[in-house]
Amino acid sequence: MEKLIIKTQKRIQFIDITEQVRNIVKDSKIKDGMCFVFVPHTTAAITINENADPDVRDDIITHLGKIVPSDGYYKHSENNSDAHIKASLLGFSVAIPIEDNNLVLGTWQGIYFAEFDGPRQRQFFVQIK
Ligand code: ZN
Repeated sequence: MEKLIIKTQKRIQFIDITEQVRNIVKDSKIKDGMCFVFVPHTTAAITINENADPDVRDDIITHLGKIVPSDGYYKHSENNSDAHIKASLLGFSVAIPIEDNNLVLGTWQGIYFAEFDGPRQRQFFVQIK
């Protein structure tokens, strides 16, 4: 299992980690299998979505903010409940099939590390089976 460190620059930010994950798959030499990406945080998430048009990523961030506003009323005293909820909505892991030593992603799909309470130093894990 590989542990990767990532530094986020904004409170809310999607970072494309597709090439980092693809390189780990290539280095593993595994031809057919599964690639698991997991984030061990409660205010960051992992998701797959379009990486061709950056407007899609911006729309996801904008509309998640409407569903779960940062200035809403929350009981949690850390003042980051919106980040916890957004992270749970997107989830903390993805599984991607591996074929011919490459990720089986759709043409327009990329893997994103989704920061909801940055900037922070973060980590995520990639496991190939
Ligand atoms: Zn919190």
